[in-house]
Amino acid sequence: MYYDFGWQPYVSVATKLSNAKKFVQKKLGGKAHPITVDGRKITSTFWGTSWCENLEKYGDFENRMPRGRTYLRNGSVVHLEIHKGVVKSYVAGSDTYEIKVKIDPLPAKQWNAFKKKCAGQIGSVIELLQGKLSKNILTMVTDKQSGLFPSPKEIHFDCSCPDWASMCKHVAATMYGIGVMLDKEPELFFKLRGVDHLELIDSSVSIATDKKDSDTIDTENIESIFGIELDDSLQETTEKNKTKKTTKKTTKKTAKKSTKKSVAKKSAAKKTTKSAKPKKKTPTNTKPKAVKKTIKKATKKSAKKKR
Ligand SMILES: [Zn+2]
Repeated sequence: MYYDFGWQPYVSVATKLSNAKKFVQKKLGGKAHPITVDGRKITSTFWGTSWCENLEKYGDFENRMPRGRTYLRNGSVVHLEIHKGVVKSYVAGSDTYEIKVKIDPLPAKQWNAFKKKCAGQIGSVIELLQGKLSKNILTMVTDKQSGLFPSPKEIHFDCSCPDWASMCKHVAATMYGIGVMLDKEPELFFKLRGVDHLELIDSSVSIATDKKDSDTIDTENIESIFGIELDDSLQETTEKNKTKKTTKKTTKKTAKKSTKKSVAKKSAAKKTTKSAKPKKKTPTNTKPKAVKKTIKKATKKSAKKKR
């Protein structure tokens, strides 16, 4: 157990870090992806923070996790990469250790049940990835039993260090490092769990058409996030089937797929909204037939609601 008590006295932290960086540079060249923590808190977003909080919920890990924090903060995680079902990292210690964390895929049954419960309630990929979701959804996401985060039995790790303990500090640092990375690239969470997050939006799209309308939220969200205004000219462009191009320009590639949908969708919903609450100056009576059709559908249920 004494193995765990921090740095060995004869090599300074600085030297260990320097050695580890050299090691990684040699191994990966320019592809090294070190994890750095700038703020007082390790993570600041919903996905990053929930990842860490999930781990801290379990008695199996709680004693081991704190030292991982210290390691992470001092820059010991000199490389970390997230793939489907697996995370690989290098962490500086007396030597540079190689860590592999395997995460079981989210069981299909659980994922499908989750999608069903969320259907129609997640307006866009952006909302999803930014964690800008209703309290109800957030609670479902983080639920210990039926949520999306892995439980200890779904987490398997291995480290090349001599520490025999159940979770060494290098693994703990890696676990926190995953949270930091999810802060920046939340879509990696879904990749790690082997599911396609766009399916959550897809379900809401199909249901939104005849059940519930979250389109208006879509629009506002996209606008506020990107600081752009999806105005009538864009709607017209949309109508001309140029949605693809325009969307690509204004959105990140991660939001690509579903944004295409939401923009088209939203142009319809927006007009609906307009009739209820005139906000734009351009006349609304020039919509082409195809769009009118869509609007009609959306209008049915959406006239009043605005979450
Ligand atoms: Zn270790």
